[in-house]
Amino acid sequence: MEHPENDPRYNGLTVNPGVAAPPSVNPYMQRRKRKPLPSAAEMVEGILKGDITMLSRAVTLVESLASDHNAIAQEVIEKCLPHSGHSRRIGITGVPGAGKSTSIDSFGLHVLKNGGKLAVLAIDPSSERTRGSILGDKTRMERLALHPSAFIRPSPSAGSLGGVARKTRETIVLCEAAGYNNIFVETVGVGQSETAVHSMVDFFLLIQLAGTGDELQGIKRGIMEMADGIVINKADGDNLERARLAQAQFRSALRLFPKAASGWDPEVLTYSGYFELGIPEIWDMIDRYFAFVDANGYFERRRAEQSRYWMYETINEQLRSSFYNDPEIKRHLAEGEHLVLANRQTSFAAARQVLDFYFNHRQKI
Ligand code: GDP
Repeated sequence: MEHPENDPRYNGLTVNPGVAAPPSVNPYMQRRKRKPLPSAAEMVEGILKGDITMLSRAVTLVESLASDHNAIAQEVIEKCLPHSGHSRRIGITGVPGAGKSTSIDSFGLHVLKNGGKLAVLAIDPSSERTRGSILGDKTRMERLALHPSAFIRPSPSAGSLGGVARKTRETIVLCEAAGYNNIFVETVGVGQSETAVHSMVDFFLLIQLAGTGDELQGIKRGIMEMADGIVINKADGDNLERARLAQAQFRSALRLFPKAASGWDPEVLTYSGYFELGIPEIWDMIDRYFAFVDANGYFERRRAEQSRYWMYETINEQLRSSFYNDPEIKRHLAEGEHLVLANRQTSFAAARQVLDFYFNHRQKI
């Protein structure tokens, strides 16, 4: 019957079979549990095949703070190491607004025109960016993000510079094993992170802007000294003249610097990341640099020196974190700090006590 309420037997209380109320917990949620972690061997196999999902999962493990994740990550890195090293590692720095994202998008597409693969990593220890920022970073490099041969990974989230830098360095190994023969490591040119980037790349590119009057003001001498190439962005429209002027100023400033250990004379070029002017010239410069340091043996020497540096950095960082994260040490530190602040103990005596505890008790446990 179409209208049961018209039936004389209908008393208004009939309960028709209806749709069951949905459970308060979505049953599909349970099925969406994360896939179990692949074994180290499975990850290595995937990475060596260039499987981006496996690579991403391994990088997530490298970035993880959980110690069981770290153990797997270390195993994966170790197995990937023999397959790493075959890439051009290029550090790119510049103050916010210098045009790093725009430029990396254009540089990246230019590099990929000749085939190969490109990984873009970042070091930004001050960043509070969360995992959600992967999207944010992808939109910063719109065209590159859509390129099948590009892998873009934002900075590991905030932590000590040493920790963040080590994770990026380990990620380089994984990317190289996955066949990425070009690695860009981006950093914001305002702090200490340039030194960390410099210690893991072959070529260091400094992006500068013109048109701020005294061009050389505000640039730390140390950063300029590290640069293998200085490129002045936004050389377009009515900014072109100012960019050329800045180029001349940078060139003469560089002449005052001592010769770099590589023997290479840093070049200064102008370009426009946005309008894609002067990009091939930048790549020609980088090509020339690699040919130069390959020929004089500096490339090998620097990579060896960097490996040594990272051995010590890793030891330093792990000693430091195992010390400071130890609950007992934390308690002793808090006590010591309290006494020092209250002027009841000297800093040296307090430090001595914590260290004595560490060396005499903690280490033996
Ligand atoms: P980042 O903070 O260093 O990553 O800089 P962005 O790539 O986000 O660029 C900062 C601003 O500069 C954006 O508004 C860009 O559109 C602009 N920009 C970047 N490159 C150029 C360029 O070559 N010419 C001009 N005129 N503007 C640019």
